[in-house]
Amino acid sequence: MSAFNRASHSTRMRVLVVGGGFAGAMAAVRLAGRSKGRVEVTVVNPRAAFVNRIRMHHVAVGRPVPFPSLSSLLGSGVTFVEGYVTALEPELGRAEVSGPAGIRTVSFDRVVLATGSTTERAPIAGHQHVYGVGDIDAAHRLRPALASLSEGSTVTVVGGGLTGLETVAEIAESRPDLDARLLTAGEIGGWFDTRGQEYVRGTLGRLRVDAVGGTRVRAAEPGRLHLDSGIEVPSDLTVWCGGFAAPPLPRESGIAVDEQGAVLTDAAMRSISHPSVLAVGDSGHAPGPGGGRYSMSCQFAFPSGAHAADVLLREALDDAGENPGREDADALDLGFLGRCVSLGRRAAILQLTDKEDVATGRSAVTGRTAVMIKRVQLAGMAAAVSTERRLPGLVRWPKGEPVTARHTQTVTG
Ligand SMILES: Cc1cc2nc3c(=O)[nH]c(=O)nc-3n(C[C@H](O)[C@H](O)[C@H](O)COP(=O)(O)OP(=O)(O)OC[C@H]3O[C@@H](n4cnc5c(N)ncnc54)[C@H](O)[C@@H]3O)c2cc1C
Repeated sequence: MSAFNRASHSTRMRVLVVGGGFAGAMAAVRLAGRSKGRVEVTVVNPRAAFVNRIRMHHVAVGRPVPFPSLSSLLGSGVTFVEGYVTALEPELGRAEVSGPAGIRTVSFDRVVLATGSTTERAPIAGHQHVYGVGDIDAAHRLRPALASLSEGSTVTVVGGGLTGLETVAEIAESRPDLDARLLTAGEIGGWFDTRGQEYVRGTLGRLRVDAVGGTRVRAAEPGRLHLDSGIEVPSDLTVWCGGFAAPPLPRESGIAVDEQGAVLTDAAMRSISHPSVLAVGDSGHAPGPGGGRYSMSCQFAFPSGAHAADVLLREALDDAGENPGREDADALDLGFLGRCVSLGRRAAILQLTDKEDVATGRSAVTGRTAVMIKRVQLAGMAAAVSTERRLPGLVRWPKGEPVTARHTQTVTG
């Protein structure tokens, strides 16, 4: 990687972080803190608030969710610009930002794409009759639609992954007057180990969720869904949890992406097509331990953001002559630990996984203990960023080796 061009402008490396969610906020505070003024860090985000995305289903059912100030969370070492990056020219180091102050250009030497993901538009006929819950705008649209349903109406959640399970349980618990249904192509709770599956199915049963596996939805129209089997089922409101995709910015900017629109990167989070671009969190597709990409999760978002910050810090130090003998940036070394999934307020399950995010046969933790762990996780998202801002470099993550000897503070998803 060649040195950034400092001749024509500032003597400090200018890093633009696009997106102030989990990965972007972590990258920004770590880089600003660790570089001690050697790097100018700017974050562009459409909202002045920090959105805790793992609570979008709470927003949808009307539970109070705090939205801390993003600029306060980022602190004075980071410049915050409220707006949306509408165009990116990596070769020229320019981004066009559209925000409340109008349209402006932000120049950069390096850009970190941390634009997250959204619920993919339902890939079925009649998708306009289907709601999402994958981002704040979708959750805000879903909320009044759900609130306006009258007693006895049917709500269908399509997709039985972790987000679908959390969403249907939350709806069933908060609106027991509705008929809640889960339709999914796979087995209900099929990702969990045997005990975990029993717990998930038992909990959905107690919440009176009609959970049907082995079912594909083919089309939606007002008041009903058409299944692949040819059957029609009533659905007054349908929520799609069938998959996530990255926003279009990198693809539209000519950056190499995968089929979900995520930036293809090397293991150091650097774009394979544009070396001045790094991509982290859900919008980055880095090679994971098993050969595929890391799962979209907090467990990848925070470490990938922190790792990108370390890669850029090393580059800035090297260019300043303070880090002679620099080798190529390290690959991210990350092992997964487990997934904590809530099923309403009173039930949760912590499923232990191997480092590649595959559920292991080790017993899942359920009940009160898991509910407490989930609460800590929900509260820990903004706390992880503010802790890193106050103590730059503190956040560590489990490596591919046994984790106990390798981490000091673990951020789990
Ligand atoms: C309901 C729900 C529950 C979940 N539960 C869990 C869980 O329990 N555990 C887990 O590990 N994961 C969970 N996830 C997934 C997890 O939330 C994501 O993997 C994580 O948020 C990814 O972080 P990120 O920083 O990549 O993206 P985000 O946190 O989504 O941040 C992306 C940011 O970029 C901004 N942005 C997008 N485009 C632009 C642009 N052009 N210009 C400027 N800004 C832009 C967005 O507005 C947003 O603020 C859940 C997701 C959902 C929807």
